[in-house]
Amino acid sequence: MGRTATVRASLQAALTTEPQTALELSAAVRIREKDVVEHLEHLAQSMRRGPHQLVVIPARCVECGFRFEQRRRLARPSRCPSCRSERISVPRFAVS
Ligand SMILES: [Zn+2]
Repeated sequence: MGRTATVRASLQAALTTEPQTALELSAAVRIREKDVVEHLEHLAQSMRRGPHQLVVIPARCVECGFRFEQRRRLARPSRCPSCRSERISVPRFAVS
């Protein structure tokens, strides 16, 4: 198994225990947080063919409760489109 496949398998294993943030996953798998997001996007694609799916618990605005449901990229949003607050809870990831 190559390095990329190993990292994705480790991410998937970490996600089966409980929902994780990108930061928690980066510590668990020992890769950079921005690389976690990239791997998760590929993992979500490949998992579509199998019995389990990557579930994204969306980021939420702490001020007004706006949920970033429509967001296609998995990275953390920087600002609420509704109230402009920058107090955004981070998205969490899980495997169904
Ligand atoms: Zn808001």
